[in-house]
Amino acid sequence: MTDLLIPTSAPVQERRLVTEVPGPRSRELMARRAAVVSAGVGTTLPVFVERAGGGVVVDVDGNSLVDLGAGIAVVNVGNAAPRVVAAVQEQVAAFTHTCFMVTPYEGYVAVCEELARVTPGTHEKRSALFNSGSEAVENAVKIARVATGRSAVVVFDHAYHGRTNLTMALTAKNMPYKSGFGPFAPEIYRVPMSYPFRDPAGLTGAEAAARAVRQIEAQVGAANVAAVLIEPIQGEGGFVVPAPGFLPAVADWARQAGAIFIADEVQTGFCRTGDWFASDHEGVVPDLVTLAKGMAGGLPLAAVTGRAELMDSVHTGGLGGTYGGNPLACAAALAAIETMRELDLAGAARAIGDTMLLRLRALQERHPAIGDVRGRGAMTAVELVKPGTTEPDPALTAAVAKRCHADGVVVLTAGTYGNVLRFLPPLVIGQDLLTEALDVLDAAFAAHA
Ligand SMILES: *Cc1c(COP(=O)(O)O)cnc(C)c1O
Repeated sequence: MTDLLIPTSAPVQERRLVTEVPGPRSRELMARRAAVVSAGVGTTLPVFVERAGGGVVVDVDGNSLVDLGAGIAVVNVGNAAPRVVAAVQEQVAAFTHTCFMVTPYEGYVAVCEELARVTPGTHEKRSALFNSGSEAVENAVKIARVATGRSAVVVFDHAYHGRTNLTMALTAKNMPYKSGFGPFAPEIYRVPMSYPFRDPAGLTGAEAAARAVRQIEAQVGAANVAAVLIEPIQGEGGFVVPAPGFLPAVADWARQAGAIFIADEVQTGFCRTGDWFASDHEGVVPDLVTLAKGMAGGLPLAAVTGRAELMDSVHTGGLGGTYGGNPLACAAALAAIETMRELDLAGAARAIGDTMLLRLRALQERHPAIGDVRGRGAMTAVELVKPGTTEPDPALTAAVAKRCHADGVVVLTAGTYGNVLRFLPPLVIGQDLLTEALDVLDAAFAAHA
């Protein structure tokens, strides 16, 4: 079924290894890289890319790898998606930049019109465009503080919100995101997340929300809270899916407390979880949403979309940036959103989720190191532990990922304890390729069990 979504311009949709991974040309380029690129910038898989499309990434040695990463949930529409390519080519030949704050252009407005349509809720909305997810989150906090006149921001255990100074403070994990980079921004308060695999058995979403609320009220004070910021399904923190009822209860509490409920949908957005947004799944309508990754088919674009009265509470000139809503990125976003509609990529994500969860659960029955299988749509993961316990096994996680890479499948890891394998294929990936990647994963577990 999903094979119908592969454009004819994409590379041959196959896993093909013609050298060891990484091959000689990639190794050469890694040596050049080491001589000029900061060691602070990491590499998951040291193969250099020549082409990519559909469900594959082709490297400079001619190896074709199955892509279960999508550039970290960015190319939901596939790499070099035809509509995106055509729209960007047309725009780049017309004009490349004027700065929207100097002399505006239609593409920016059209993107904001689309965001008003596709984001949760039917209320009147406004948007502002930025370049990265971190920048969107920073601006959502700025808006919430101006709109409420309060300063405290509540975030959750295992959260990831970015790498800038404010977003490092909002992010939970020390290594590698925060270590040595302080001091961090003040007025950030962290409370417990709903994490069904690690919470006491049977703790419901409502109970987990009550636990978080008790801590907020005791340690911060409801009247001081400007914003409650949460990923509806946590990304880098390990694809933690909160128990049903948790998100609606937290959102309700925020509303009653006069705080802004911000959903960070940077990773979960744009059809990834089988709906336009992960908030849609439980009918949660955030006051503000932060968007980036999947938004523009690989071009850098981010947004804050939210209630008109909040977004308009900011003084003129208080929001913006030189490149925010760059015309090429806007053209790409309009084409990507059109592609999501035309190809029903939310439906494709649900089909991917069905295939993945079935296979991952079968794998779990054979491998007691798989403590938990979870996710929604095309955002799924396994959490690896010492069998019979919840003690994380990051070494096994790294070994299985490495084996998948050597066998031509791009997989990513995640989790506060580094013990989660996560799967984020492009939503256009073919069923055969997905099945083959799962066979490789199966073999990797068998090799390390
Ligand atoms: C990736 C991510 C960010 C940061 O986005 P950048 O574009 O890398 O700055 C913020 N929030 C979430 C949930 C993310 O997954």
